[in-house]
Amino acid sequence: MRILIGDDSLTHRVMLEAIVRRWGYEAVLAEDGQQAWELLSAPEAPRLVLLDWEMPGLDGLEVCRRVRARQDQDPPYILLLTARQETADIVAGLDAGANDYISKPFENTELHARLRVGARMLDLQRELISAREALEFQANHDALTGLMNRGAVMRAMEQAMQAAGQGGQTLQIGLIDVDHFKQINDSHGHPAGDAVLQAVSRRIESVLRAGDLVGRYGGEEFLLLVNGEVDEAPAFCERLRGVIADQPFVEGQVALRVTVSGGFVPLTPSDRRGTSELLAAADDLLYRAKAAGRNRIFFNQADDGARQAAPAAGETKRSAG
Ligand code: GH3
Ligand code: MG
Ligand code: MG
Ligand code: MG
Repeated sequence: MRILIGDDSLTHRVMLEAIVRRWGYEAVLAEDGQQAWELLSAPEAPRLVLLDWEMPGLDGLEVCRRVRARQDQDPPYILLLTARQETADIVAGLDAGANDYISKPFENTELHARLRVGARMLDLQRELISAREALEFQANHDALTGLMNRGAVMRAMEQAMQAAGQGGQTLQIGLIDVDHFKQINDSHGHPAGDAVLQAVSRRIESVLRAGDLVGRYGGEEFLLLVNGEVDEAPAFCERLRGVIADQPFVEGQVALRVTVSGGFVPLTPSDRRGTSELLAAADDLLYRAKAAGRNRIFFNQADDGARQAAPAAGETKRSAG
Protein backbone atom coordinates (compact mmCIF):
# COMPACT_ATOMS: atom_id res chain seq x y z
CA MET A 1 0.00 0.00 0.00
CA ARG A 2 1.20 3.53 -0.78
CA ILE A 3 1.38 6.24 1.88
CA LEU A 4 1.49 9.91 1.15
CA ILE A 5 3.87 11.61 3.58
CA GLY A 6 3.30 15.36 3.71
CA ASP A 7 5.85 17.19 5.88
CA ASP A 8 7.75 20.43 5.30
CA SER A 9 10.76 19.19 7.28
CA LEU A 10 13.22 17.27 5.13
CA THR A 11 14.54 15.43 8.20
CA HIS A 12 11.05 14.24 9.12
CA ARG A 13 10.23 13.25 5.57
CA VAL A 14 13.39 11.17 5.23
CA MET A 15 12.88 9.55 8.62
CA LEU A 16 9.20 8.78 8.02
CA GLU A 17 9.93 7.42 4.57
CA ALA A 18 12.59 5.09 5.96
CA ILE A 19 10.36 3.68 8.68
CA VAL A 20 7.24 3.16 6.57
CA ARG A 21 9.37 1.47 3.89
CA ARG A 22 10.68 -0.88 6.55
CA TRP A 23 7.04 -1.77 7.31
CA GLY A 24 6.41 -2.61 3.67
CA TYR A 25 4.64 0.57 2.54
CA GLU A 26 5.57 2.52 -0.54
CA ALA A 27 6.13 6.22 0.26
CA VAL A 28 5.04 9.19 -1.85
CA LEU A 29 6.51 12.45 -0.57
CA ALA A 30 5.11 15.97 -0.44
CA GLU A 31 7.17 18.96 0.72
CA ASP A 32 4.23 21.07 1.76
CA GLY A 33 0.46 21.21 2.00
CA GLN A 34 -0.02 22.45 -1.55
CA GLN A 35 1.96 19.55 -2.97
CA ALA A 36 0.12 17.10 -0.72
CA TRP A 37 -3.21 18.48 -1.93
CA GLU A 38 -2.11 18.18 -5.57
CA LEU A 39 -0.98 14.59 -5.08
CA LEU A 40 -4.28 13.80 -3.35
CA SER A 41 -6.18 15.35 -6.26
CA ALA A 42 -4.39 13.29 -8.91
CA PRO A 43 -5.86 10.06 -10.27
CA GLU A 44 -4.78 6.94 -8.35
CA ALA A 45 -3.84 9.10 -5.35
CA PRO A 46 -2.46 7.30 -2.28
CA ARG A 47 -5.30 6.41 0.09
CA LEU A 48 -3.31 6.36 3.31
CA VAL A 49 -1.99 9.78 4.31
CA LEU A 50 0.44 10.88 7.00
CA LEU A 51 0.15 14.63 7.22
CA ASP A 52 2.05 17.17 9.29
CA TRP A 53 -0.22 19.83 10.79
CA GLU A 54 2.26 22.72 10.75
CA MET A 55 3.35 23.49 7.22
CA PRO A 56 3.77 26.85 5.43
CA GLY A 57 1.03 27.82 3.00
CA LEU A 58 -1.62 25.13 3.15
CA ASP A 59 -1.33 23.46 6.53
CA GLY A 60 -2.36 19.89 7.28
CA LEU A 61 -5.69 21.02 8.72
CA GLU A 62 -6.61 22.87 5.53
CA VAL A 63 -5.65 19.86 3.40
CA CYS A 64 -7.99 17.74 5.57
CA ARG A 65 -10.80 20.25 5.10
CA ARG A 66 -10.35 20.31 1.33
CA VAL A 67 -10.31 16.53 1.10
CA ARG A 68 -13.50 16.23 3.15
CA ALA A 69 -15.22 18.98 1.20
CA ARG A 70 -14.81 16.85 -1.95
CA GLN A 71 -17.05 14.16 -0.49
CA ASP A 72 -15.30 11.37 -2.39
CA GLN A 73 -17.04 8.06 -2.32
CA ASP A 74 -13.71 6.42 -1.43
CA PRO A 75 -11.93 9.11 0.65
CA PRO A 76 -8.34 8.75 1.91
CA TYR A 77 -7.54 7.92 5.52
CA ILE A 78 -5.65 10.82 7.05
CA LEU A 79 -3.41 10.54 10.09
CA LEU A 80 -2.45 14.00 11.33
CA LEU A 81 1.00 14.51 12.87
CA THR A 82 1.60 17.34 15.27
CA ALA A 83 3.55 18.60 18.26
CA ARG A 84 0.28 19.96 19.69
CA GLN A 85 -1.16 18.02 22.57
CA GLU A 86 -4.03 20.15 23.85
CA THR A 87 -7.47 18.61 23.75
CA ALA A 88 -8.73 21.64 21.83
CA ASP A 89 -6.13 20.98 19.12
CA ILE A 90 -7.03 17.33 18.88
CA VAL A 91 -10.68 18.28 18.54
CA ALA A 92 -9.85 20.86 15.85
CA GLY A 93 -7.81 18.29 13.91
CA LEU A 94 -10.52 15.66 14.01
CA ASP A 95 -13.20 18.22 13.17
CA ALA A 96 -11.24 19.32 10.13
CA GLY A 97 -11.58 15.78 8.86
CA ALA A 98 -8.52 13.89 10.07
CA ASN A 99 -9.28 10.24 10.77
CA ASP A 100 -6.70 10.00 13.51
CA TYR A 101 -4.08 12.01 15.29
CA ILE A 102 -0.62 11.28 16.61
CA SER A 103 1.51 13.65 18.73
CA LYS A 104 5.19 14.18 18.14
CA PRO A 105 7.39 12.74 19.49
CA PHE A 106 5.79 9.34 19.03
CA GLU A 107 6.86 5.76 19.42
CA ASN A 108 7.39 4.00 16.10
CA THR A 109 5.37 1.02 17.24
CA GLU A 110 2.40 3.29 17.92
CA LEU A 111 2.67 4.89 14.49
CA HIS A 112 2.85 1.42 12.95
CA ALA A 113 -0.26 0.29 14.83
CA ARG A 114 -2.17 3.41 13.80
CA LEU A 115 -1.22 2.91 10.16
CA ARG A 116 -2.47 -0.66 10.38
CA VAL A 117 -5.79 0.66 11.72
CA GLY A 118 -5.91 3.06 8.76
CA ALA A 119 -5.18 0.30 6.26
CA ARG A 120 -7.91 -1.86 7.86
CA MET A 121 -10.42 0.98 7.63
CA LEU A 122 -9.55 1.52 3.98
CA ASP A 123 -10.01 -2.19 3.22
CA LEU A 124 -13.36 -2.12 4.97
CA GLN A 125 -14.35 1.00 3.03
CA ARG A 126 -13.54 -0.73 -0.28
CA GLU A 127 -15.52 -3.81 0.76
CA LEU A 128 -18.52 -1.64 1.62
CA ILE A 129 -18.27 0.20 -1.68
CA SER A 130 -18.13 -2.99 -3.71
CA ALA A 131 -21.00 -4.52 -1.71
CA ARG A 132 -23.07 -1.41 -2.39
CA GLU A 133 -22.18 -1.47 -6.08
CA ALA A 134 -23.07 -5.15 -6.31
CA LEU A 135 -26.43 -4.45 -4.67
CA GLU A 136 -27.08 -1.55 -7.01
CA PHE A 137 -26.21 -3.72 -9.99
CA GLN A 138 -28.50 -6.50 -8.79
CA ALA A 139 -31.33 -4.05 -8.22
CA ASN A 140 -31.10 -2.79 -11.80
CA HIS A 141 -30.11 -5.86 -13.77
CA ASP A 142 -31.59 -9.13 -14.76
CA ALA A 143 -29.69 -12.05 -13.23
CA LEU A 144 -30.03 -14.35 -16.24
CA THR A 145 -29.06 -12.06 -19.10
CA GLY A 146 -27.15 -9.30 -17.30
CA LEU A 147 -29.27 -6.75 -19.16
CA MET A 148 -31.11 -3.97 -17.39
CA ASN A 149 -34.25 -5.27 -15.77
CA ARG A 150 -37.70 -3.97 -16.51
CA GLY A 151 -37.71 -1.26 -13.84
CA ALA A 152 -34.29 0.02 -14.83
CA VAL A 153 -34.97 0.08 -18.56
CA MET A 154 -38.28 1.88 -17.97
CA ARG A 155 -36.50 4.52 -15.88
CA ALA A 156 -33.83 4.79 -18.56
CA MET A 157 -36.58 5.22 -21.13
CA GLU A 158 -38.11 8.14 -19.20
CA GLN A 159 -34.69 9.79 -18.97
CA ALA A 160 -33.81 9.13 -22.60
CA MET A 161 -37.15 10.58 -23.69
CA GLN A 162 -36.50 13.76 -21.76
CA ALA A 163 -32.97 14.05 -23.10
CA ALA A 164 -34.14 13.37 -26.65
CA GLY A 165 -36.84 16.00 -26.35
CA GLN A 166 -34.37 18.58 -25.06
CA GLY A 167 -31.65 17.65 -27.51
CA GLY A 168 -33.95 17.61 -30.52
CA GLN A 169 -33.06 14.01 -31.37
CA THR A 170 -35.18 11.16 -32.55
CA LEU A 171 -35.24 7.93 -30.61
CA GLN A 172 -36.55 4.58 -31.83
CA ILE A 173 -38.40 2.62 -29.19
CA GLY A 174 -38.80 -1.09 -29.83
CA LEU A 175 -40.19 -4.23 -28.30
CA ILE A 176 -38.98 -7.56 -29.57
CA ASP A 177 -40.15 -11.01 -28.60
CA VAL A 178 -38.58 -14.40 -29.31
CA ASP A 179 -40.77 -16.47 -31.62
CA HIS A 180 -42.18 -19.78 -30.41
CA PHE A 181 -39.89 -19.69 -27.42
CA LYS A 182 -42.08 -22.07 -25.47
CA GLN A 183 -41.21 -24.75 -28.02
CA ILE A 184 -37.50 -24.31 -27.32
CA ASN A 185 -38.13 -24.94 -23.63
CA ASP A 186 -40.45 -27.83 -24.38
CA SER A 187 -38.14 -29.55 -26.86
CA HIS A 188 -34.71 -28.84 -25.39
CA GLY A 189 -35.34 -28.05 -21.74
CA HIS A 190 -35.45 -24.90 -19.67
CA PRO A 191 -31.63 -24.60 -19.32
CA ALA A 192 -31.31 -24.55 -23.12
CA GLY A 193 -34.02 -21.88 -23.17
CA ASP A 194 -32.05 -19.87 -20.62
CA ALA A 195 -28.88 -20.18 -22.69
CA VAL A 196 -30.76 -18.99 -25.79
CA LEU A 197 -32.03 -15.93 -23.89
CA GLN A 198 -28.47 -15.13 -22.85
CA ALA A 199 -27.16 -15.54 -26.39
CA VAL A 200 -30.04 -13.51 -27.84
CA SER A 201 -29.16 -10.72 -25.39
CA ARG A 202 -25.53 -10.67 -26.56
CA ARG A 203 -26.60 -10.60 -30.20
CA ILE A 204 -28.99 -7.71 -29.57
CA GLU A 205 -26.18 -5.80 -27.84
CA SER A 206 -23.90 -6.46 -30.81
CA VAL A 207 -26.06 -4.33 -33.12
CA LEU A 208 -26.39 -1.42 -30.68
CA ARG A 209 -24.23 1.67 -30.67
CA ALA A 210 -22.92 3.66 -27.72
CA GLY A 211 -25.87 5.41 -26.11
CA ASP A 212 -28.43 2.83 -27.24
CA LEU A 213 -30.09 0.77 -24.50
CA VAL A 214 -31.65 -2.64 -24.13
CA GLY A 215 -33.40 -4.23 -21.18
CA ARG A 216 -35.24 -7.43 -20.46
CA TYR A 217 -38.85 -6.30 -20.49
CA GLY A 218 -40.38 -9.66 -19.65
CA GLY A 219 -39.70 -13.39 -20.05
CA GLU A 220 -38.51 -13.47 -23.68
CA GLU A 221 -39.28 -9.85 -24.49
CA PHE A 222 -36.79 -7.02 -24.79
CA LEU A 223 -37.20 -3.26 -24.78
CA LEU A 224 -34.78 -1.27 -26.92
CA LEU A 225 -34.02 2.44 -27.11
CA VAL A 226 -32.07 3.23 -30.22
CA ASN A 227 -30.76 6.64 -31.22
CA GLY A 228 -31.31 7.48 -34.84
CA GLU A 229 -33.52 9.22 -37.32
CA VAL A 230 -36.68 7.71 -38.77
CA ASP A 231 -35.00 6.86 -42.08
CA GLU A 232 -32.45 4.70 -40.27
CA ALA A 233 -35.15 2.43 -38.84
CA PRO A 234 -35.49 0.05 -41.84
CA ALA A 235 -31.79 -0.82 -41.90
CA PHE A 236 -31.58 -1.11 -38.13
CA CYS A 237 -34.62 -3.37 -37.87
CA GLU A 238 -33.25 -5.60 -40.60
CA ARG A 239 -29.85 -5.83 -38.86
CA LEU A 240 -31.56 -6.73 -35.61
CA ARG A 241 -33.79 -9.34 -37.23
CA GLY A 242 -30.86 -10.81 -39.14
CA VAL A 243 -28.42 -10.97 -36.23
CA ILE A 244 -30.83 -13.36 -34.51
CA ALA A 245 -32.19 -15.33 -37.47
CA ASP A 246 -29.17 -15.70 -39.74
CA GLN A 247 -26.96 -17.89 -37.55
CA PRO A 248 -28.20 -20.84 -35.49
CA PHE A 249 -27.74 -20.88 -31.72
CA VAL A 250 -25.61 -23.86 -30.81
CA GLU A 251 -26.63 -25.45 -27.52
CA GLY A 252 -24.75 -28.66 -26.74
CA GLN A 253 -25.07 -30.87 -29.80
CA VAL A 254 -28.00 -29.04 -31.35
CA ALA A 255 -28.16 -26.01 -33.59
CA LEU A 256 -31.33 -24.07 -32.87
CA ARG A 257 -32.89 -21.72 -35.35
CA VAL A 258 -34.28 -18.78 -33.41
CA THR A 259 -36.18 -15.77 -34.73
CA VAL A 260 -37.68 -12.66 -33.20
CA SER A 261 -40.61 -10.44 -34.04
CA GLY A 262 -40.76 -6.81 -33.06
CA GLY A 263 -42.24 -3.37 -33.33
CA PHE A 264 -40.43 -0.03 -33.38
CA VAL A 265 -41.92 3.43 -33.08
CA PRO A 266 -40.04 6.70 -33.46
CA LEU A 267 -40.12 9.34 -30.77
CA THR A 268 -39.51 12.65 -32.51
CA PRO A 269 -38.80 15.81 -30.48
CA SER A 270 -42.30 17.17 -31.18
CA ASP A 271 -43.99 13.91 -30.10
CA ARG A 272 -46.08 14.38 -26.95
CA ARG A 273 -46.80 10.71 -26.29
CA GLY A 274 -45.78 9.27 -22.91
CA THR A 275 -44.00 5.98 -22.23
CA SER A 276 -47.15 3.90 -21.95
CA GLU A 277 -48.56 5.18 -25.25
CA LEU A 278 -45.28 4.54 -27.04
CA LEU A 279 -44.98 1.07 -25.57
CA ALA A 280 -48.56 0.29 -26.53
CA ALA A 281 -47.83 1.44 -30.08
CA ALA A 282 -44.67 -0.71 -30.24
CA ASP A 283 -46.55 -3.66 -28.76
CA ASP A 284 -49.28 -3.26 -31.35
CA LEU A 285 -46.69 -3.47 -34.14
CA LEU A 286 -45.12 -6.49 -32.46
CA TYR A 287 -48.49 -8.19 -32.36
CA ARG A 288 -48.99 -7.45 -36.05
CA ALA A 289 -45.53 -8.84 -36.87
CA LYS A 290 -46.47 -12.07 -35.09
CA ALA A 291 -49.76 -12.25 -36.95
CA ALA A 292 -47.99 -11.64 -40.26
CA GLY A 293 -45.87 -14.76 -39.80
CA ARG A 294 -43.09 -13.86 -37.28
CA ASN A 295 -39.38 -13.32 -38.01
CA ARG A 296 -40.09 -9.72 -38.90
CA ILE A 297 -39.83 -6.35 -37.25
CA PHE A 298 -42.41 -3.72 -38.08
CA PHE A 299 -41.64 -0.08 -37.66
CA ASN A 300 -43.59 3.11 -37.83
CA GLN A 301 -42.41 5.91 -40.00
CA ALA A 302 -43.64 9.43 -39.43
CA ASP A 303 -46.86 8.78 -41.36
CA ASP A 304 -47.73 6.19 -38.73
CA GLY A 305 -48.08 3.42 -41.28
CA ALA A 306 -46.34 0.25 -40.14
CA ARG A 307 -43.64 -0.98 -42.43
CA GLN A 308 -41.64 -4.09 -41.88
CA ALA A 309 -38.14 -5.38 -41.90
CA ALA A 310 -39.06 -8.51 -43.77
CA PRO A 311 -37.29 -11.86 -43.76
CA ALA A 312 -36.81 -11.62 -47.50
CA ALA A 313 -34.03 -9.15 -48.13
CA GLY A 314 -35.14 -5.85 -49.58
CA GLU A 315 -38.81 -6.49 -49.13
CA THR A 316 -40.56 -3.60 -47.45
CA LYS A 317 -44.26 -3.48 -47.58
CA ARG A 318 -46.93 -1.48 -45.85
CA SER A 319 -48.89 -3.56 -43.41
CA ALA A 320 -52.61 -3.36 -42.82
CA GLY A 321 -53.70 -0.69 -40.40
P1 GH3 B 1 -44.76 -16.35 -29.60
O1 GH3 B 1 -44.05 -16.60 -30.87
O2 GH3 B 1 -46.20 -16.08 -29.81
O3 GH3 B 1 -44.13 -15.31 -28.79
O4 GH3 B 1 -44.71 -17.73 -28.79
P2 GH3 B 1 -43.88 -18.04 -27.50
O5 GH3 B 1 -43.85 -19.50 -27.31
O6 GH3 B 1 -42.55 -17.37 -27.57
O7 GH3 B 1 -44.71 -17.28 -26.41
P3 GH3 B 1 -45.35 -17.75 -25.05
O8 GH3 B 1 -45.74 -16.50 -24.35
O9 GH3 B 1 -46.39 -18.78 -25.27
O10 GH3 B 1 -44.19 -18.46 -24.27
C1 GH3 B 1 -43.12 -17.75 -23.73
C2 GH3 B 1 -42.33 -18.73 -22.93
O11 GH3 B 1 -41.14 -18.14 -22.42
C3 GH3 B 1 -43.08 -19.25 -21.74
C4 GH3 B 1 -42.10 -19.16 -20.61
O12 GH3 B 1 -42.02 -20.36 -19.91
C5 GH3 B 1 -40.79 -18.88 -21.29
N1 GH3 B 1 -39.89 -18.14 -20.45
C6 GH3 B 1 -40.10 -16.93 -19.88
N2 GH3 B 1 -39.02 -16.57 -19.16
C7 GH3 B 1 -38.11 -17.56 -19.28
C8 GH3 B 1 -36.79 -17.78 -18.76
O13 GH3 B 1 -36.22 -16.96 -18.04
N3 GH3 B 1 -36.16 -18.93 -19.11
C9 GH3 B 1 -36.75 -19.85 -19.91
N4 GH3 B 1 -36.06 -20.93 -20.22
N5 GH3 B 1 -38.00 -19.69 -20.40
C10 GH3 B 1 -38.67 -18.56 -20.09
MG1 MG C 1 5.94 21.04 9.94
MG1 MG D 1 -42.45 -15.27 -27.69
MG1 MG E 1 -43.70 -13.03 -25.02
